[in-house]
Amino acid sequence: AKVMGKSEGDLIFVLLKNGMACNRNYVLPVDIIKSLGMNFGIQVEVLEQEESVDKFLSASAKGVSRWPIVVVMGHVDHGKTTLLDFLRRKNTVAKEKGGITQHLGAYEVDSKHGKIVFLDTPGHEAFSYLRSRGARVTDIAVLIIAAEDGVKPQTVEAIKHAKKSDVPLIVAINKIDKITEDKRPAVLQTIYRELAENDVLVEDWGGEIISVPISAKTGTGVDELLEMIVLQSEMMDLKSDPKVPAKAFVLESNLEKGLGPVATVVCLEGTLKKGDYFVCGNVTGKVRLLINSLGKRINEAGPSVPVKVVGFDSFAEIGGWLTVVSAQEYKKAKTSKKAPSTPSGVSVSPASIEQGQGQINLIIKTDTRGSKEAIEGSLLKLDKLTQKGCAKLNVVLSGIGDVSENDVDLASITNSLVISLHTRVEKKAQSLAQEKDVKIKSFDVIYHLVEYLEEELKKTKKVEIKWKKVAQLLVKRVFKIKKFGVIAGCSVQEGTVAKGNKVVCVRGGHKIGEGLITSLQREKKTVKEVHAGYECGFISDGFQDWEESDIVHVFAPEKVVESD
Ligand code: GDP
Repeated sequence: AKVMGKSEGDLIFVLLKNGMACNRNYVLPVDIIKSLGMNFGIQVEVLEQEESVDKFLSASAKGVSRWPIVVVMGHVDHGKTTLLDFLRRKNTVAKEKGGITQHLGAYEVDSKHGKIVFLDTPGHEAFSYLRSRGARVTDIAVLIIAAEDGVKPQTVEAIKHAKKSDVPLIVAINKIDKITEDKRPAVLQTIYRELAENDVLVEDWGGEIISVPISAKTGTGVDELLEMIVLQSEMMDLKSDPKVPAKAFVLESNLEKGLGPVATVVCLEGTLKKGDYFVCGNVTGKVRLLINSLGKRINEAGPSVPVKVVGFDSFAEIGGWLTVVSAQEYKKAKTSKKAPSTPSGVSVSPASIEQGQGQINLIIKTDTRGSKEAIEGSLLKLDKLTQKGCAKLNVVLSGIGDVSENDVDLASITNSLVISLHTRVEKKAQSLAQEKDVKIKSFDVIYHLVEYLEEELKKTKKVEIKWKKVAQLLVKRVFKIKKFGVIAGCSVQEGTVAKGNKVVCVRGGHKIGEGLITSLQREKKTVKEVHAGYECGFISDGFQDWEESDIVHVFAPEKVVESD
C-alpha cells in the first residue's frame, strides 16, 4: 500500500470486490499484487523477491482461524527465559498425564480464550534469523521490559526488528513483584515515556500498543498477557487453509537416538498427517511419527501446531520449508538425489572434491538454555566472516547437558566439531571420541569459544586449492605389501600423473573414495611423474581399497589462492 501510495483499506477493498477477503497481514502473491496495481493504473515490476511465504501460501483467503505464533524479545536479564519457562511449566502441569515436555523449538500454551504458540528461542537474533530465511513465522512479538530497568539498548533493537518486519508488539512490563504497589504508577509512566521516545505508544498514552504488567516469576499478570495476545491475534484475523497440502517451516533439526533425523516444524498452511510424503530442500521423507510439544503422538498437525516429525531421510535444514508431495513426486525427488552427478557414467566432478569445504559442522552442548542461546547469538555474528569468504558454521545439533556418546556418534556421522560450554564430557564419550577421531573442545568462557571459532573460520579462508584433472589411470593389479600398504598397479591412459596428486577411485560409474599419492613408482623405481602409455604403481593416503579395473581420475592442484 505504501509503495502504491494507497491506504491499506483501499487495497483490502479492491481485493474484497474481487472476491478475496484479506486482512492487512495477508501475504499476497506477485500476480495479485500486479493486478492490484493495474486496478490503480500502476504498473508493478518485481525487482527483487524475498523467498517468503508468499511463494508457498496459496492465494485463497478461505480457511479457518489458526493460533498465533509468538516470539518473546527484550533486553538481556529482563526475563525472557523465565517467562517462557513459566508458561511451559504451567502448561505441562495442566496437561500432566505422563507427557514429557519435548524441546521442539516451540510449544503450545492454553489460555482461557484459546491456544498460543510460543517460539522457544527468545531474543531478536533468533527472530532476525527466522526473518533472514524469509520466514514470516511470527505473528506477534512480546516485548519484555524489566520494570526496574526500563527501556535498554536491546529493547530498542527489538522494537526496530519488530517494526521492520511489521510484526505487532505487545509490551510486558516484567518483575512487577519487585516494585511496591505505591511506586508502580510512576514506574509504569516512566517506561511508557521511554517507549514513546522510541515510537511505541501504549494505550495509556493514546496509542494502540497493549501493555501488561507481569511477573514471570510469580505469574502475576501472565494470564492477562495471554488474553491480550489472543485478543491481538483475533484482530489480526489469522487464517489458514487446513485442507491444502501441508507447507511447514523447519524450526529445529537434529538426530535422535532410535528415531534418526527428526525436525520440528510448524505448518503455516495445510495439515501434516502420518504417512504423508514430503520434500524439504534437498531432503525427502515420509512422516512416520508426529510428536507434539507435550510428548504425545498425534496423527495430524494442522496450521500453527508445532510438531516433531520423525521420518526424514537425512538432516533437514533449519529455516527450510517442508512441502507435502505425492508418493510419485517423493520417489522422483529421492532418486534424482542419488543419481550420478555427471553424464557418461562418471560421477566425479572436480568441484565435488574441492578442498576447504565451505562449512564447519558443529555440535554444541551447554549447561543452560541461556548459554545455548548466547552461543547461538554469537555464532550469528560470525556470519560476517562467511560473507568475507570464510567457511560457514553449520549447527547440526545444539543441546543442553554433558557431551554424550550419542553426540560423538552424531559428530562422527556428520563430520562435526563438538563444542562444550560449562559442561562435562562423559567418560565413555571421551574414549569414543578418541576411537572415532572426533574433536571435542571444552570452554568455560563463551568469549574464548567465539574466539576459537573465529580463528578456525579464518583458517578456512587462507588457502583455496583448485583441482584440475590431469590424468586418468586404469588399475590392473593390486599388491598388498605389509610394510607399505596397498600398491595400485596401473596403466596411464591419458595425461601425466605425479606424486602429491589427488586420486579419485571410480568403480561402476560411482565415486568410491579419494586419496593423495604419497609414493609413485615406475619399473620398481621411485619417480616424480609418469606419462601416458606407461605403467606405474602408487600408494595413496586416505584411500587404499583399490580393485582391479578401477578407473583412477587424477587431479593436480591448479592454483593456490591466498584470498587474504
Ligand atoms: P533473559 O536474559 O531475558 O532470558 O532473563 P532471565 O529470564 O534469565 O531473567 C534474568 C533474571 O531475572 C533471573 O535471575 C530471573 O530469575 C529474574 N527474573 C525474571 N523474571 C522475574 C520476575 O518477574 N520477578 C523477579 N523478581 N525476578 C525475575
